[in-house]
Amino acid sequence: MKKRLNQLPISRRDFLNGMLIGAGGSLLSTQGTQLFASALDGVNNSVNRPGKDWYGYGGVGDYALSHGNTPELLAHAHDIRDGRYKNTNKSSLKIDEEFDVVIIGGGLAGLGAGMTFQKQRQAGQKCLILENHPVFGGEAKRNEFGVNGVNIFGPQGGNGFSVPSADGEHGDSYWYRELDIPREFDYQTLQNSKKSLGFSNDNMDYWYGGEDRVSTGHFFSDAAADGSGQWLIDPWRNDFEKSPHSVVDRQTLIDWRFNRRPVSSNEKELGPWLDSMTYQDFIYKFMGMGSVVPEYFNNILSTAVGMGCDVVSAYAAYKMHLPGVNSFYPRTNRKFAKNGRHGFPGGTDGFARYFIKRLIPDAIEGGDSFADILLKPINFSAFEQKDNSVRLRLGSTVVSVEHAGDADNSDAVLIQYIKDNKSYTVKAKGVVMATGSWINRHVLKDMPANYINACQSFVQAPFMIANVALNNWRFLHELGVTACLWDKGFGFSCNIRRPMKIGQYQPPLDPDKPIVLTFYVPFLTPGLAAREQAILGRQKLLMSSYAEFEQQILAQMQTLFQRSGFDAQRDVSGIILNRWGHALYVPEPGYYFGQGNEPASRDILRRRFGRIAIGHSELHGIQHWGTAADEGAHAMRQVLDVL
Ligand SMILES: Cc1cc2nc3c(=O)[nH]c(=O)nc-3n(C[C@H](O)[C@H](O)[C@H](O)COP(=O)(O)OP(=O)(O)OC[C@H]3O[C@@H](n4cnc5c(N)ncnc54)[C@H](O)[C@@H]3O)c2cc1C
Repeated sequence: MKKRLNQLPISRRDFLNGMLIGAGGSLLSTQGTQLFASALDGVNNSVNRPGKDWYGYGGVGDYALSHGNTPELLAHAHDIRDGRYKNTNKSSLKIDEEFDVVIIGGGLAGLGAGMTFQKQRQAGQKCLILENHPVFGGEAKRNEFGVNGVNIFGPQGGNGFSVPSADGEHGDSYWYRELDIPREFDYQTLQNSKKSLGFSNDNMDYWYGGEDRVSTGHFFSDAAADGSGQWLIDPWRNDFEKSPHSVVDRQTLIDWRFNRRPVSSNEKELGPWLDSMTYQDFIYKFMGMGSVVPEYFNNILSTAVGMGCDVVSAYAAYKMHLPGVNSFYPRTNRKFAKNGRHGFPGGTDGFARYFIKRLIPDAIEGGDSFADILLKPINFSAFEQKDNSVRLRLGSTVVSVEHAGDADNSDAVLIQYIKDNKSYTVKAKGVVMATGSWINRHVLKDMPANYINACQSFVQAPFMIANVALNNWRFLHELGVTACLWDKGFGFSCNIRRPMKIGQYQPPLDPDKPIVLTFYVPFLTPGLAAREQAILGRQKLLMSSYAEFEQQILAQMQTLFQRSGFDAQRDVSGIILNRWGHALYVPEPGYYFGQGNEPASRDILRRRFGRIAIGHSELHGIQHWGTAADEGAHAMRQVLDVL
């Protein structure tokens, strides 16, 4: 029998019960917060479980019960952190199953490891992937809404991509070719409008690179004399003319973006030096520019590397081709990135679905077409087919991984996991940990001391992605924008995408029809150390109820759009929150080349110990879909060597 996650029995009415808009448009306060105090890494506190009002509405379809960190996952993760599984006596464990390799984590790194196993294994070898969410994909998953008979999607985390070259041997190029993903896409055209509006194909292009093709409004909260704020539409096209910035600050932004040659093009010479400072140090000391640059850019940068210019290595900025370190767009020939990015309906979820289809063909219903792989339901009963070389077990939290004997001489690894509140043990000849260091440092029981130190040196930033299903987006159309940035309040930006058309799936792009408005929300406190920012950020992310975030989102929308006709009661159909406690690794100075005589932590962690190898996107620095899969593959190759 096919097992499917059913649509949640939440109606629009239930959703609106948590909602708060008074007749005059004023916001009423909601119920009190159910505190979730255990969320704080590094803070000694009592453990509470997330309350009923924490997780909130999940939309419809296969992903409805898996949006961001689930309450169950948080509870397990904090049990692991607080040492509940610390003293397992491995000699007393009953072995339930044996596999050649077990992969922990079913995100893109784990799936890349799985593909490598499938291609390079010897006949008869078997692999099991253990994943703690109810759906595979890690941060590469989707939200789905059904609004007025139209199914519309948004990303839970990973968002856009560029089509890589067809002949590259590594990274994105390699995986793209292996997965056999189309290279051209069809997007919906604007209907029912006489305006010429530019749209982003993903939720990111308008921040950096696509400013000249996306109609972007910048909102300055305190600019108008009456305190009501001021919109500037497409300010990069006219040098921030009429912005409330001082003349000097306007010129600084333009110089930063267009007028500075990079310090050198010799990466070898440059690398260690750049990696010894933050991008902000570089901007201040070597570009001679003021705080207007980090103030403008911190939030944008955080969507790629978790935090802002004040803590991120200048060498990470170099890797991202940021101004001053590695890119030069002369003023006379100003150009932004030439080619736009693409976004599958659920962001990078399309990659995860392609991986699964290649690993376990029956796991997504239908055939091998692009439309079937992206849009057909997941067939949950196919994950455990015995004749498949790779199996996937969802809802399974690994709590302990340890060699059966001494790490250097043992012939097996014991993996203990919890599923449906029961504990199981699997024995494997090798293990790939496709999980981040905040998990690994607690779960890997016989990890050498230098690995533990390396894990402890890493900082991951929290993030929330909120998808708001709109019945219509007339209020954006009136304003003449499809994307917005603002300087104060909840989050810093939101946009609607030009929807991808896939076969029969032809979602509308019409101001009077449904669409998803997506907010990427960082939690930064610039000026504090990265670790402190992460702790404070997780506090904000995890200690608020669903209703409190819902209220903040709607209040922000009112501030921005009330004057162009926004009415929450009429226009909003549903909100899904995706909270990620450890969303993005923050590459601080020293990440790439180490500090002093110490090797870089990631170089330590990328080496197998015994029969265990680590492969997670945080080991690459700039996390994205292809590098995540690369790290998983790198770890799998090391494990296959010792089978
Ligand atoms: C805000 C944001 C924006 C992004 N934008 C883009 C973008 O535009 N383009 C792009 O390509 N990428 C983007 N990314 C990055 C990309 O999504 C990630 O790098 C990639 O998906 C991470 O894959 P991963 O497998 O390394 O990690 P994860 O996705 O974290 O997967 C690890 C998996 O292991 C599971 N796990 C953890 N512990 C256990 C345990 N004990 N037992 C069992 N399972 C466990 C986790 O639940 C998770 O499912 C973005 C990410 C974020 C957060």
